[in-house]
Amino acid sequence: MATVAIDPRISHSTAGFVTADHKMLIDGRFVSAASGKTFPVYNPATGEVITHAPEAEAEDVNRAVAAARRAFDEGPWPRMSPSERGRILWRVAELLEKHNDEFAEIESLDNGKPFSVARIADVPLATDMFRYMGGWTTKIAGKTFPISFPGDFHSYTLREPIGVVAQIIPWNFPLLMAAWKLAPALACGCTVVLKLAEQTPLSGLRLAQILHEAGVPPGAVNVLTGFGEGAGAPLASHNDVDKVAFTGSTEVGKLIVKAATGNLKKVSLELGGKSPVLVFPDARIDNAIQGTASAIFFNHGQCCCAGSRLFVHEKIYDEVVEGVSKVASGINVAPGLDPSCQMGPLVSDEQYRKVLGYIESGVNEGAKVTAGGAKKAEHGYFVQPTVLTNTHPGMKVVDEEIFGPVVCATPFSDKDIEAILRKANDSIYGLAASVWTENLSTAHKVARGLRAGTVWVNCHNVFDASLAFGGYKQSGWGREMGEEVLHNYLETKAVTIAL
Ligand code: ADP
Repeated sequence: MATVAIDPRISHSTAGFVTADHKMLIDGRFVSAASGKTFPVYNPATGEVITHAPEAEAEDVNRAVAAARRAFDEGPWPRMSPSERGRILWRVAELLEKHNDEFAEIESLDNGKPFSVARIADVPLATDMFRYMGGWTTKIAGKTFPISFPGDFHSYTLREPIGVVAQIIPWNFPLLMAAWKLAPALACGCTVVLKLAEQTPLSGLRLAQILHEAGVPPGAVNVLTGFGEGAGAPLASHNDVDKVAFTGSTEVGKLIVKAATGNLKKVSLELGGKSPVLVFPDARIDNAIQGTASAIFFNHGQCCCAGSRLFVHEKIYDEVVEGVSKVASGINVAPGLDPSCQMGPLVSDEQYRKVLGYIESGVNEGAKVTAGGAKKAEHGYFVQPTVLTNTHPGMKVVDEEIFGPVVCATPFSDKDIEAILRKANDSIYGLAASVWTENLSTAHKVARGLRAGTVWVNCHNVFDASLAFGGYKQSGWGREMGEEVLHNYLETKAVTIAL
């Protein structure tokens, strides 16, 4: 069935997986869509079809939710001892580690990102997430309370799994986003229906095989491939789903909230961003140039926390902008599987056109291009890393999330930190930010004043399974990772006994 246009640089076994007849995981079995429909999967470096994936629709969603419901109401997963659940999550981590390079190849081929980055970032971070959450299974506990109600009582809380969880993820870190979602939900004893992004279904389908191999029981995790409207929407609105966890655009996040109102299922959202990066005159300039360039260009700018608004003090503005532009022009944009690749293609034709459209709109509104500004090649979805200056709030490139390798630079002259913070906080988003300074007091004041879920000082894009990540304002509800993410998947029950 698959049209084979596989990159010759990938291993035999990965090519075998990619071109296989792909199946979704429902109720412990690998199955096609009920309709038999499939959709094409593209190699973003060439624009060619590399394989096909099942196209789940409402009937498949119903089957998957019914399986997750049964697995929650009657199955072993929520009833298993915490240490046994932990061991299964650790086994998933071990298998991910064992197949690290295979996953990195799949990710590079399907998403476009450099293989070298996927193998040291995406896959190990996903592995860590399963390992870290495997440790939490035995530490989820309630508290006792000395209550003041007249009489003699013993009061305590139980922390219980929320139930059947629908999880919908995007394409920018396909495996890692699956891990961020699945690992904590499973650690809490929930059962899951996970819908992968239609642009990048492959690593999630391989992960489904690994979950099965690791001993996750039938129905505890169900993995669907399909489109947002066809599969995501019926899943988000399903009455047998107790909670929906979504990562993606703010626009779709709002649709998820509406879809959840039918049965008032709980909702957590990790949405868009337009993260400010503030460079103060006392920053170590070389460090700041490299770091702020990487803040925007890492993963081709396809990060919700990409440092896309660069504010630089006027004293060093020219030097920093020139430096970041030089870094941008020096980045080797090539297919992700090319060993010399530093930046691959964008994920899809749609994304490619969208990002080029933003650059054009910026230029039309008066922005100056100091690096990049155009497509990179005739074939594939390659865009040059781009630096825009002469930008200001009110321009689409400054106000809206581009989700591509485009940074808007602006000088600031204020000595007053409050004035700088007002500029940085002037966004509907509040996901992340970074501050570049050697002054301890500036660093702490700015970290405190930024309305963002993550603040990095003299670094950007540093993640750990133990660190909560998520948004203020329209960047989302709730947190991913760390102890905090467990709140997304637990209910608290207060028990009071009259003694
Ligand atoms: P992007 O614009 O970056 O592709 P989206 O927010 O559109 O991000 O998509 C993120 C995820 O949400 C994908 O898995 C997609 O299929 C899904 N999705 C898109 N539209 C809907 C919808 N109306 N309901 C539920 N899920 C959706």
